[in-house]
Amino acid sequence: MVQTATAPSGATTTDKKWVYLFREGNAGMRDLLGGKGAGCAEMTNAGLPVPPGFTITTEACNAYYDNGRQLPPGLWEQTQEALRDVEEATGKRFGDPANPLLVSVRSGARFSMPGMMDTVLNLGLNDEVARGLATLTGNERFAQDAYRRFIQLFGKIVLGVEGDVFEHALDGIKREKGVTGDTDLDAAALREVVARFKGIVRERTGANFPTDPREQLRRAVMAVFQSWNGRRAIDYRRRNKIADSLGTAVNVQTMVFGNMGSDSGTGVAFTRNPSTGERTLYGEFLMDAQGEDVVAGIRTPEPISALERRAPAVYKEFADIADRMERHYKDVQDLEFTIERGTLYMLQTRSAKRTGPAWVKSSVDMVREGLIDEEEAIKRVPAADIVQLLLPRFDQAEKDRLQREGKLLATGLNASPGAATGKAVFTADRSEEWAREGQAVVLVRPETSPEDYHGMIVAKGILTARGGATSHAAVVARGAGLPCVAGAGDLTIDAEKGEMRVGGTVIKEGEDISIDGATGEVFAGKLDTFNPSFKDEADLQTLLGWADTKRRMQVWANGDYPQDAARAREFGAQGIGLCRTEHMFFQQERLPIVQEMILAKDDATRQDALDRLLPFQTEDFRGILRAMDGLPVVIRLIDPPLHEFLPSLQDLLVETTELRVRGDNPEELARKEELLAQVEAMHEQNPMLGLRGIRLGLTFPGIIDMQARAIVTAMCELVKEGVDAKPEIMVPLVGHVNEMRIVRERLERIVAEIQGVQGTSVHVKIGTMVEVPRAALTAEAIAGDAEFFSFGTNDLTQTTFGYSRDDAEGKFLLRYVEEKILPENPFQVLDRDGVGSLMRQAVAGGRKARPDIELGICGEHGGDPSSIEFCDEIGLNYVSCSPFRVPVARLAAAQASLQRGERDR
Ligand code: ADP
Ligand code: MG
Ligand code: MG
Repeated sequence: MVQTATAPSGATTTDKKWVYLFREGNAGMRDLLGGKGAGCAEMTNAGLPVPPGFTITTEACNAYYDNGRQLPPGLWEQTQEALRDVEEATGKRFGDPANPLLVSVRSGARFSMPGMMDTVLNLGLNDEVARGLATLTGNERFAQDAYRRFIQLFGKIVLGVEGDVFEHALDGIKREKGVTGDTDLDAAALREVVARFKGIVRERTGANFPTDPREQLRRAVMAVFQSWNGRRAIDYRRRNKIADSLGTAVNVQTMVFGNMGSDSGTGVAFTRNPSTGERTLYGEFLMDAQGEDVVAGIRTPEPISALERRAPAVYKEFADIADRMERHYKDVQDLEFTIERGTLYMLQTRSAKRTGPAWVKSSVDMVREGLIDEEEAIKRVPAADIVQLLLPRFDQAEKDRLQREGKLLATGLNASPGAATGKAVFTADRSEEWAREGQAVVLVRPETSPEDYHGMIVAKGILTARGGATSHAAVVARGAGLPCVAGAGDLTIDAEKGEMRVGGTVIKEGEDISIDGATGEVFAGKLDTFNPSFKDEADLQTLLGWADTKRRMQVWANGDYPQDAARAREFGAQGIGLCRTEHMFFQQERLPIVQEMILAKDDATRQDALDRLLPFQTEDFRGILRAMDGLPVVIRLIDPPLHEFLPSLQDLLVETTELRVRGDNPEELARKEELLAQVEAMHEQNPMLGLRGIRLGLTFPGIIDMQARAIVTAMCELVKEGVDAKPEIMVPLVGHVNEMRIVRERLERIVAEIQGVQGTSVHVKIGTMVEVPRAALTAEAIAGDAEFFSFGTNDLTQTTFGYSRDDAEGKFLLRYVEEKILPENPFQVLDRDGVGSLMRQAVAGGRKARPDIELGICGEHGGDPSSIEFCDEIGLNYVSCSPFRVPVARLAAAQASLQRGERDR
């Protein structure tokens, strides 16, 4: 935490500075003043019209807790002193009916945080002050409106009275008066509202509404501190990995009034469109309104462009300020303003949250406008967000239309990007059933669990009412590349009835809904999805082009088929880092041959099956090597346990029992019984740690011989055709150098043999996947026999932690992350301290034995920005990830290089 202007050493704690006037702060003091406080300070010092005020520091919040939930010594005195300064600046006095100062009390942490205390407006009012305000402004209606809002907000936020109770009372009076809008209530009606609200407070809290303004202020300040440890705030910090120790600041600010009639109003605006990035003021305002009226949906706000017609001078001033703020901060700003009787006031500025497309466009545009340089653009775009530009998305105009039609049902957490439209289904079974019939479905659940998995992966998207960014739904969706909106708490989902409710709307099974996983929006109805093409994303291409000039590491892709290779190249991959060969064995015409090979009782039968597989494999490799002409392709030898290619034990048990009972087909029974016996014999307690990888290869060397022949044959033939085929043979799951040595010698013999047959001389790199701790620990020895290492971090994470991933993610891992037993899911974000430490050791050992050893990563971590940063730090040559994540990795690799450069400087 920044220790700006703390007490000089030797001073007593009472000398500690807890309170900063806006003019004493600046944008660099966010740790101490929170985002809102620092923003108000910066705007004040830039000469913008900011209502005077001050900020009580985040340190004061921490001291409040250290002090047994009491204001720390000196804080209250300093608050009163700051208040006096504000009184002087405004010429008004707090609690003085003749010319009252009213303030807002606003929470404001380092990071903008939903779940923190809502803002209390118009603080400082009581009966007398309200009367004074009416006289002073000559507007009794306004004074009573301000008063009732204050009681409502203070009652709800500070005194903990349910907000609904006030809303109902207000609706009651509107009904009695026969009016619909808040603005239709006259002064007398509002006086009645005030009286009722006070009654509610008395009833609910057993005490009268506090009339002393100082008492009001003190309690509001403590309520802000209290809200730091409210349930929602804590949850939000957990989800977003924000430290509990930061604390929140409190801002106390002179009120300006947007509710003083038709020449007053309040609004919010972005300096550029936050969903597209387009350079136009984007926002909304409401005349004769206060505070959150704009977002509360009480009245429909007008687009900011309409302000130009209504109040041209104010609009121009605001547009100028917006422009100035953007140039000042060199970033898209999210601004809040209020107009009081024709005068504009700025209440907030901050960097705008925005979608992936908006990040890319605004950043590239700002480089062209000369506002930032290319490096800055590369650094600021969140790498993971650019997948949003490659996934299906909705047309913004269409979304706006649905919103206008009142079809935006709810907004939840943007848990996994992409857009999905389909029929709502409320159970995993129904999802599977309808998806099998070729229908597009969106699976809607209160929350998901491992039992829902089968219905989740076939849906177009997933929507839940509960759970956060690390909930089961979110994790599965991100893993499967499906759009997901999680924790849309406004939805009431009744899976048994097959419906969901929100507000007055009911959506039944089979009705269309649409979800936008990039923004968290949930719509009723169908939306056309638009499938972006990477080629046409000009701004993204520009940004990645810049990134390519800055990154040290190469980016490769994982892919098993020629079409994967083509897509990988399109996305900019510089090689294939993992081509798995076993998928090829599952293909229709091959599986029976593979099974014959596995079940063969003698070598001759096995060899016969292998000979028949050879042409298939050769063709497979020819395809992918041709597609990657000129670029390396790392081909991994067979890895999974053989029983995966056989019918399951369970199926065989059922089938043999049935055959036995029927008794009509003794030959078939005998065949199945024999198969059953063989499958039983191959059964393993822990297949993950059993006969797989190179252990399998050395047990049935004929398989890897065949694969090597296929690879080298394909290569030689292609080279003769003029194709620059560059296969590298990767040996899986090596744990001991002897395994590597034996395989290498075997493979080299085959390379020599095929070269002889083909009459061409080629070099094929032979290396290993580092995926068990022992390989990392003995890397130096292994590197003597391996020309490259590729970190298989999925298995390496499993074996380092001793977790089976499938069991862990289903049973305890998500809870571990929620409860912060683990900082992250180590299968998503590389565990630097454990797995990473093994990797470092392997890199060091590998380079020692073989300085030019090629080092890469092919686990899923190769597409995760934080893990990519680590790979750059330890000096890998490349990261390899799924083709779709190649653009993310190109950007993340550049960010890593730039960061490393800055650290080294
Ligand atoms: P949030 O953190 O939710 O953005 P704010 O503290 O910005 O909360 O307050 C919400 C709204 O309350 C502001 O956008 C503004 O409209 C209103 N508001 C806050 N302080 C004042 C003030 N001093 N004068 C007038 N309106 C205010
Ligand atoms: Mg708020
Ligand atoms: Mg605000």
